[in-house]
Amino acid sequence: MNATRFSQLLFFVFLSSYFITSAQPFNNIKNYKTNFNIASNGHSKLIAIRSFSNNNQKYFLLVDPTTLDTKVDLVSRYTINRLAWPNVLAIFKNSPYVKSLETAIAKDWQLQNAGIDHAIPGERGITLTIDLCPSHKSLDRIIFQSVFDEFNKIEQPAPLAVSVSGKWMLKHQNDLNWLKSLVDKKEINITWVNHSYNHEVNSLPLAENFLLAPGTNLEFEVLENEKLMLKNGLTPSVFFRFPGLVSDKSIVDKITAYGLIPIGSDAWLAKGQQPNAGSIVLIHGNGNEEIGVKDFIQLLKTKQADVKNKQWLLFDLRQGLEKEFER
Ligand SMILES: [Zn+2]
Repeated sequence: MNATRFSQLLFFVFLSSYFITSAQPFNNIKNYKTNFNIASNGHSKLIAIRSFSNNNQKYFLLVDPTTLDTKVDLVSRYTINRLAWPNVLAIFKNSPYVKSLETAIAKDWQLQNAGIDHAIPGERGITLTIDLCPSHKSLDRIIFQSVFDEFNKIEQPAPLAVSVSGKWMLKHQNDLNWLKSLVDKKEINITWVNHSYNHEVNSLPLAENFLLAPGTNLEFEVLENEKLMLKNGLTPSVFFRFPGLVSDKSIVDKITAYGLIPIGSDAWLAKGQQPNAGSIVLIHGNGNEEIGVKDFIQLLKTKQADVKNKQWLLFDLRQGLEKEFER
C-alpha cells in the first residue's frame, strides 16, 4: 500500500469512528443541568436547554426554535450567551417553539389533558403518540409493524412519537433496541418524549395522583429520565407527556420552565375519543391497553384507501407545530 492510499484509509477510519462515536450512548453523564444559552454557530442560532459532561467532554442539549428539532452537540462548537428563562421567552417570542409553550401554558388550568392536544388544524391525517408507561408486559410490536406495513410506500420513514418512562426503559431493553433498529432501518421515525422516570400511580383522586402525588420530586422525574434516555442512545425531544395526562397549573409552569412543551391528546382511543383531522392520537403500547391497540389497527384499516391516495397521513409532531405557529 502506498502512502496516499494509507492516508486515505486512515482518513476513512477516522471518519467512520467519528460518526460511530457521535451516535454512541452517553454512559458517563455528569453535572446534568438545566440552564439556558443561545448557542450560535455560523447562521444557526439554537437554544441550549441542558448542559452536561461525559468522559471529560462538555455537551449541550439544543433546540431549534423554528423546527423544534433537538440534538446533542459539543459546547465547543458554539459561541454562547447565557440567558434567564424569561429572556428566552422574550427573545424567541415569535418562534414556533415559544408559541407552542405559550399555547400549552394558556391551558394549564385543566386537571387532565393540559398542553397541546391538537396539532394541525385542517390537515388530512393525525399525529400518533404511543405511551410506554411502566409495565410487566412486552411492547405491542404490532402497532409499529402495522404503521410500517400501511405507510411504507407512502411515507418513509413514517413519523410517530413515543413517550418513554424510565421504569419502562429499564425493564424492556430488548423492545427498546427493537424500536431503535426500526429507526436505524428508516422504517419509522421516532420523536422521543419524556414521560417521567417513575410514573407513579396511586388510588387517590387525580388532584393527588401521578406527578401531583405528595412527595413527588419533579426535578428527578424530568432530568433523570432524560439522562436515562441519553444513556440509551435516545435524543430527548422538547416534548413532555404527563403521566395519566394529569397536571395542574403549578406543574405545567414548572415543566415549561424546563423548556419542555406538554403534549396532551384529543383522541385517546381506548376512552372512545374519535380522531379527527389534525388530532393528536394517544394509544398505549406497553401491553396494558388491548382495546386502544385494537381500535388503532381498526382505524388504519378503515383509512387504508385514503392512505394509498395520500389523503390520510401521519404527521411529525415537530413539523405540525412548526406549521401551526410559523409566521
Ligand atoms: Zn403513562
